[in-house]
Order: sequence, then structure tokens, then C-alpha cells
Amino acid sequence: MSLLEVRNLVKHYEGSFYFGKYRRAKVRAVDGISLTLERGEVLGLVGESGCGKSTFARLVTRLEEKTAGEIYFDGQEISGCTGKKLRRLRRHIQIIFQDSASSLNPRWKAGAIIEEPLVNYGISREKRRERVLELMDLVGMEPGDADKYPHEFSGGQRQRINIARALALEPALLVCDEPVSSLDVSIRAQVLNLLRELKERLSLSYLFISHDLAAVSCLAARVAVMYLGQIVEIIPASQLHLQGSHPYTRALVEAVPAPDPRQKTVLKATLKGEPPDPSRPPRGCRFHPRCPEATGICCEEKPVLKEVGKERTAACHLR
Ligand code: ADP
Ligand code: MG
Repeated sequence: MSLLEVRNLVKHYEGSFYFGKYRRAKVRAVDGISLTLERGEVLGLVGESGCGKSTFARLVTRLEEKTAGEIYFDGQEISGCTGKKLRRLRRHIQIIFQDSASSLNPRWKAGAIIEEPLVNYGISREKRRERVLELMDLVGMEPGDADKYPHEFSGGQRQRINIARALALEPALLVCDEPVSSLDVSIRAQVLNLLRELKERLSLSYLFISHDLAAVSCLAARVAVMYLGQIVEIIPASQLHLQGSHPYTRALVEAVPAPDPRQKTVLKATLKGEPPDPSRPPRGCRFHPRCPEATGICCEEKPVLKEVGKERTAACHLR
């Protein structure tokens, strides 16, 4: 049984959105995603800014309600969970975000921030003290750091606080949404190494999300490539540099992404134009207007995800 299995997951935002001017639209942020994540696995999720990665992360962590589809955690359908059941689930699935500062309460000291989930789950005071010290040690913080406020730490240190807090209740799955994207390059490797170490020590599983394929393939053994709300390929990281992967995966491999996912300059060097508007996805293969290999059928027919090689699935008419 997979630790996480998602079937045909959909999230549409309906409302009045600004596209140069306001118009009513249905933004297809996540538009039919199916994938599995095994126990002990790091599954990467990569794609350009706006393709729906964070929405997907919020759906599987139940921070947001799906429009349709199913989410199984440890064999249990979780998208309908409420109340006590949802609370129990939250222990097992935790998330860390890109912006290490905004996810920390600036008026709380680091120790209290790390302790908060333990308080919420009714752990006794003595056990909490011990556990906070243990967690701080686990992520490479000094005991004295407990009394400092978030602004007294660097970005990398703040991400360690977030990681410690996320691990407080011993989750099985950690969803990492662009965890190193806002850090200096020199600090990135340290935080990635920490995540790698923690995974081994604590037998964790990660859904590791980034717009930067290089960061993803540092940790992930398998990579799901996302385009405009859908998965276009799931490929072992070891095969990323071989010929024959999905044309979009190729473009990501060859690209030098912008350092920050909020900058919309990712991939411009190798890929034509911007990703299309997710409220008006192109007919046929959603990638065809930007695909260097597109032919007639690509403009007409939607490709389905199918097995195309060893442990590899792709949605492409030409593979
Ligand atoms: P990524 O994390 O890959 O950059 P997101 O999941 O943040 O992508 O966004 C996917 C699409 O959904 C984008 O077009 C974004 O503008 C839209 N979107 C995200 N959240 C909302 C929301 N709350 N309301 C409307 N549109 C949203
Ligand atoms: Mg995002």
C-alpha cells in the first residue's frame, strides 16, 4: 500500500480574476492529477511558477478543499476527514513552505514556536521541554537559540525552525513546498543536506516541490513533472539526463531557472513564451503551443499518461 495515493485530483478556483482586466473565470489550478508516493520515498514535483504545485500541496495536506478526486493516506480516503479524524491526520502529514519568515510568528521565541504543536496535542510540560531540545539538536540549532526571536536568525536558520516544528509530532510525510527557493545558494545545500539526513534518521517520506529541477533531483529518486495543472511525466531522477523524456521535461533539464519562483522568467532561454492561462488551457496537449516537436495530433488530441519506459510514464503522443 502506498503512503500517499492521489486519484484524479482537481482544484478549480472560480471567481473574477484579473487578466489585464477582470473577467469571470475558472482557474484550473490542479486538473486531474494521479500519483503515488511510497513509504520512505522522496517524490519530486517540478514545474514552472503557476502550474499548480502549491495548490496540490495544500490539497494533500488538507489546508484546502478539493473540487474533485480522491486522496488516500496509508490506505484511508482523507479528503472527507473532519474533526478528530482530521486532527489525527494532521500529525502525520506536515508541510514546510518557501518563505521561512512569514510562517513564523515574529512575536514568539523559537522554542515556543517549535513547542506549539506539542501544546496543541496535549503533551505534558516536562516532555515538551525535552522534546524541543531534542528537535533543536536534530536540526542543528543550539540550545540557546530557543530564546531568540525569528528576526534574530538567518533565512536558513529560520527554515530549520520550521523543519523542527514540522517534525515535532513525528509525521510520516513531510510536504516541502519550495523549501530552499528563497535561500542564498550557499545555504541551500546545507538545508538540502539536513533534509536528506533527517529523512534517513527518521524514515520520513517527502513530497519535495520546487520550480528548480536541480534542487528536486538533489533529493528525489522519482520526479513528477507538472504542466498547467497536470502531470506530463513521472520519471526516475537517474533518467532525467537521458534522451527521450517528455519535451517539457527536456526543457526543464536544459533550463537555468530563475532563483526565485515568484519571478516569471523561468525557462525563457529554452522554451518559447509563457505558460498559457490556466483558465483557458490549450486544446489537445496543453504543452503543444510551446513544444518544439508538436505535430497535428498534439493540437487535437489530449495525450494520456502511459508507460513509456522502465518505471517511466509520460503523457505525450510522440513518446
Ligand atoms: P505554483 O505553486 O506551481 O506556482 P499555484 O498552485 O500557486 O502554482 O497556482 C496555480 C494557479 O492557481 C495559478 O494560476 C494561480 O494564480 C492560481 N491560484 C492559486 N491559488 C488561488 C486562489 N486562492 N484563487 C484563485 N486562483 C488561485
Ligand atoms: Mg508555489
